[in-house]
This record gives sequence, structure tokens and C-alpha cells, in this order.
Amino acid sequence: MLIRNAEIRDSPGRDLRIEGARIAAVGTLAPHPGETVIDAKGGLLLPGLHDHHIHLAGLAARQASVSCGPPAVRDADELARALQVPGSGWLRAIDFHESVLGGALPDAAMLDSLVPQRPLRLQHRTGRMWLLNTPALDALLAMAPPPPGLEREGGRFTGRLFDEDAWLRTTLGSVPPDFAQVAARLAGLGVTGLTDMSPGNDAPIARHFAQQRAAGRLPQSIVLAGSPDLAGADPKGWQLGPVKLHLHESALPDFDEALALVRAARTQERCVAVHCVTEVELVFTVALLEAAGAMPGDRIEHASIASADMVVRMRALGLAVCVQPHFIAQRGDRYLAEVEPRHHGDLYRLRSLRDAGVVLCGGSDAPYGEPDPWKSMAAAVSRRAPNGIVIGADEALSPEDALALYLADPLDLARQRRIVPGAPADLCLLDRPWREARARLLGNDVRLVIAGGALVHQRVDEPPFERPLRADTAA
Ligand SMILES: [Zn+2]
Repeated sequence: MLIRNAEIRDSPGRDLRIEGARIAAVGTLAPHPGETVIDAKGGLLLPGLHDHHIHLAGLAARQASVSCGPPAVRDADELARALQVPGSGWLRAIDFHESVLGGALPDAAMLDSLVPQRPLRLQHRTGRMWLLNTPALDALLAMAPPPPGLEREGGRFTGRLFDEDAWLRTTLGSVPPDFAQVAARLAGLGVTGLTDMSPGNDAPIARHFAQQRAAGRLPQSIVLAGSPDLAGADPKGWQLGPVKLHLHESALPDFDEALALVRAARTQERCVAVHCVTEVELVFTVALLEAAGAMPGDRIEHASIASADMVVRMRALGLAVCVQPHFIAQRGDRYLAEVEPRHHGDLYRLRSLRDAGVVLCGGSDAPYGEPDPWKSMAAAVSRRAPNGIVIGADEALSPEDALALYLADPLDLARQRRIVPGAPADLCLLDRPWREARARLLGNDVRLVIAGGALVHQRVDEPPFERPLRADTAA
């Protein structure tokens, strides 16, 4: 396949040839007899974008769920209406935030008043908690003994289930969802690589990723972070990423236990990725890595609140930070209301981290964040909250630096992937040159996407190519 007349990032050449799953040549190239030729019409050709922090199974499951949080659902009446879904069997609802009920977390009895007949599980927006009604509690406890994360008050279960996704999955006997639809949507945004950061990723889910890749349902290259157990799985169709450590401020692990986990990761020659959304979680993690010794590739996920002092200590350890600039655009007004004013300058830093020499990469955190990387880049540039207020104007990135968040090599974050012969043919072609695209940063500008040498997306207004589109030729 030959792409001609493109603005090729990092190259004065205008043409690019793909052979198999690799870039074969870049320069001024003439078509071979019978070769498929794509006229880029001067559009920018980029390495495919990599989402460095996503929960793909969660994103796929989301499609079969009812959304029960702001902005779609803002109060008790809207919640009651959203949950009036015809049908029987389990009702899966997501996105709940206590602001919907004036700051209250509902218990099973409260949920029974909304959904009395069928089992309901309602997930909190953070993804850390499920709220169950009585039919759901009864159904689950008939199948398995109560796990430690099922809250009890005065001897009875409240229906609140904390951090027990693995238990819930096993008890419900759920099979991981099909990825084809979400993968196609991500491909349409130019995303050709994913790092799945779900802390529970283990050998069975790795097998599911491998099967989905082999069946051509998942064109993206995959890095799996997760449990130490993943190191024992056959890395066919995916690559092994960091050990994920999921901290929760209200129940921080014992320091020595966390240290043992970091050391266990080191014996597997793996770095660690630590979830830090609060100041306390970040302080704990930095102290942990100061004690254990940091390793290149160790990373902080989110770094939602980072004081200037923590920036210095992260830099000294050589930590990378995986950022979600779109959280400002999605929920910035709520952060300003909920986060202590003394921390407003520490919210979702970008520029100051970069200027300090901290390596950055970008991840959607979908389904908890918007999966469109272009919206995230735009938010990194504007820093604009939903109510129009700009949060931390000096933390804004240039469009070039925002794009770079998604061009980092997932297994060597300090390195930017480049369009050079021999590199994987994971490519994203825009319909316009960068000088125009940079002022918009719109996913709609993505015209064609190639993953593993195969055309996996073309915009609907494109004339069809003579060859069928197939994702399943990817290795
Ligand atoms: Zn996450």
C-alpha cells in the first residue's frame, strides 16, 4: 500500500509505503504495479495514537448500561426516570454520583423504592463502588458468601459493595464483553494502541484480549497492566505492562505490604503504575518509591492533585505521569467546588510537570473519562471547565505537546514513536495539514486509520477502496 502526497510528521518525504505490518519506505515513491494507492491530499500523517490508560472491558460493558449521573441525571426524579427500564433480569446502571441525591449514597432499601422487582447494580462514577438493591443482594448472596467489601451496618448489609469487581464477576459468572464495537469507535478516532490499566487484569482476561485480537475484533496493539499474576500468562497478541497498584486514600495498604508488592514487580522486571488521585495517595506513593527505589517506566496514574514539592520529588525519581486533561473539560467545575482552594493550583498539572522534566503520556481512563483523545488534547490546550472557567491557565500545553501525549511509546514513555522505515504501520491520516488541524483538534478530522498494516477505518464520506477492509491481518 502506498500513501502519497501526505504531510508526514518528522519527515520531509511526502510518500509512504507499507509492506505487511511495517512501514517499508518514506520519501518520494512511485507506485508498484497493482499497488493500492491512497492520495492523502496534503493531510497530516501521524503515528497512530496510543491511549495510555483505558479500561476496555469497562468501556464495552458501558454500552449495555443505563447512565445515572450528571449531566444526564441530576436529581432524584431524573434518577427514578432513568431506572424505569422495561425488562427483567439484572439492570446495570453506571455513573452515579451522590450529588444526584443531595450528597447521600443510597442503601438497598432506597434503591428498592426505585427498582423493586429486578436486581439492580448501580456503579459509582469512580468505578470503586457498586450500590445494590435487595433483589441484587439476595441473588448474589444465594450464590456466594459475602465478601469483605460488602458493607454491613448493625448486622445487616447496606447494599454498598467496595472494590469487589473480581468477586462480582466471578459470582455472576460474567464473561468479558466483546470489544469489536468500542475498538472500531477508537480506531475511528485514530487510536491504534491501548494500554489497559485495569488493576484486576489477570491471565484469563489476557486470554480474552488475545482471542479478540486473533479474531480480528480488536485491531489495536495492546499493552496490559495489571496484577503480578499477568507475568505468568502467554503474551501472545499483547505485551506485558506495569504492575498496577490501586490506592484508595480511605484504606491505604500497609507500607511494608506495598513495598513487598513493588519488590515482587521488580523480580518480574516490571515497573509499577500507581493510581493517585488525592494528595495523600501521591505522598504515599512517592515515599514508597523513594524507599523501594524507582525504575524507568514507573508511573503515576492521574496525579490529580500534585503540590510543587511533589513535582520535584516525582522528577527526582524519574517517574512518568499519565494525565487526563479532559477531566478538566468534563468535571472542572465540580473540582473547583469539591477540592480545597489551597489545591486549586495543583489540579491536573500539565505544563509545570513537563517543564520540570517529568515524562508525560495521555490516557482516557475510559469509561470513567471521555475516550476521544482529540477532546483531551483540546482540553489540554484550553484548560476550560464545563462552565467556561479556565483552570490553571499556565498549565496549558501547546497543541504540539498535547499531541505528543498520545505519541509516546507505551513501553518506553520517554520515547516518541516516529514514522520511519521499519516502524509498525500504525498510522492516522487527517484530512488537513497540521497548521489547520492544530487550531481545531477534532476527531472528525481523522480520515483513514491503519493498524498493523491493515486499513481499519475510513471516514464515511470516503470513496471505497478496491480492497476489502480487514483488521484480522494484524499480527
Ligand atoms: Zn483508570
